[in-house]
Amino acid sequence: MTAIPDTMAAALLSDFGHLDVDRIPVPEPGPGEVLVRVAACGLCGTDLKIVNGGFRGVWPPSLPFVIGHEWSGEVAALGPATEGSGLAVGDRVVAENHAGCSACPMCRSGRYNLCERVREPGFKLYGHTAPGALAEYAVRPAIVLHKIPLAVDDAAAALVNQGALTVHAARRARLTAGATVAVYGPGLLGLLMLQVARASGATTVITVGRGGRLDMAKELGSTAVVDYEQGDPVAGVRDATGGRGVDVVFDCSGNPDVLAQAIGSTRRGGAVAILGLTGGARGQVPVDAFALDELDLLGVRSSPNAYPAMISLLASGAIRTDVLTADRYALADVADAFAALERRTSIRPIVLPGK
Ligand SMILES: [Zn+2]
Ligand SMILES: [Zn+2]
Repeated sequence: MTAIPDTMAAALLSDFGHLDVDRIPVPEPGPGEVLVRVAACGLCGTDLKIVNGGFRGVWPPSLPFVIGHEWSGEVAALGPATEGSGLAVGDRVVAENHAGCSACPMCRSGRYNLCERVREPGFKLYGHTAPGALAEYAVRPAIVLHKIPLAVDDAAAALVNQGALTVHAARRARLTAGATVAVYGPGLLGLLMLQVARASGATTVITVGRGGRLDMAKELGSTAVVDYEQGDPVAGVRDATGGRGVDVVFDCSGNPDVLAQAIGSTRRGGAVAILGLTGGARGQVPVDAFALDELDLLGVRSSPNAYPAMISLLASGAIRTDVLTADRYALADVADAFAALERRTSIRPIVLPGK
């Protein structure tokens, strides 16, 4: 076991607009908490919005702040009262961003992603209202940690957060063997969604997007692609399903205009699941088609009870991550990582704080 230093490097949000790599004290684990050495931390659109002040006053509640919520690491020290956690120093782990309050009706029913206390002052949403993992170390309650096997490397493990969201989406949509699916929006979420849909039994997966990302979708198992710059995406999905439409559309686009297209792409009695957020913009629902085709509209938030399944899918080799985690950065180069995210040249920049 290596000794734990007093200070660590961290990407600090001291003022909105940019991050400074600075040294701050290594956090100490309190009762029930664990100190984790961060191995890999992915950067997402929400991080970019937080850095640019898109949620100021809420995420984070005050400055300076350490962001980062899609990450993996290795247990470095156990705090008091963690004996029953099943964790040991050296275990490789991934972290959920909260585990709910365990007391409200939603938490009690197992839907802790919908915890009713999440907006209460003092509620720790790690990387948003409590310190994130874009640093050499992070402290988390043992209960939010999941062990990862050797077969899942550090960068792949940093995708568990987003992958588990797609597992939750597949469960919400009740995907079954032989299902037909369309995925709108081949960003990281969509590229994981199409693979999780296939692993859940879907035999037709049509990805709707544009440009090079569609080639990647094909490489990762999409059975057909529709380029919306080349023609009407709804017609494209209908053509690929003999005119019938798909059982389920997963909207990973974050584009409010896609909702109507998703509804148009769904067969009678099918479902549309929304995973992508629009930043408050409204989409339009073609009301008659929606009612007369008896469609189900499913919201998908976070990933309750889905981390273990995503970890298993990665370990089994059913989900490929190599092409999704190719862009890696040292912590000192975090500004370059954000620039790549902003320019959309990287699907998921991965920062390696230990390198
Ligand atoms: Zn994220
Ligand atoms: Zn709760």
